[in-house]
Amino acid sequence: MRITCPHCGPRDRREFTYYGDKAYLTRPALEDARGWDGFLHLRDNIAGEVQDLWYHELGCAAWILVTRNTVTHEINHTSLIAQLHLTTSQKGTK
Ligand SMILES: [Zn+2]
Repeated sequence: MRITCPHCGPRDRREFTYYGDKAYLTRPALEDARGWDGFLHLRDNIAGEVQDLWYHELGCAAWILVTRNTVTHEINHTSLIAQLHLTTSQKGTK
């Protein structure tokens, strides 16, 4: 499997470290015990398109959001997490 790093281009997946579901980007409020239980322990097991966090450990050290299909194993899109947060932050200020 090859993952396209937005900085480095297509690379062998062994250069990357899988972190987990995109849900890790959105933490619950500190006092939300039920939210934390779900955040730490509950994940959907989707047959189809998912978004995961990957770290380009043996490359540029970028955090990447990978959109892939769990049925076909096709990677449909990759983007930098930093750009995602920048875009989200900019939306919040308008
Ligand atoms: Zn890279």
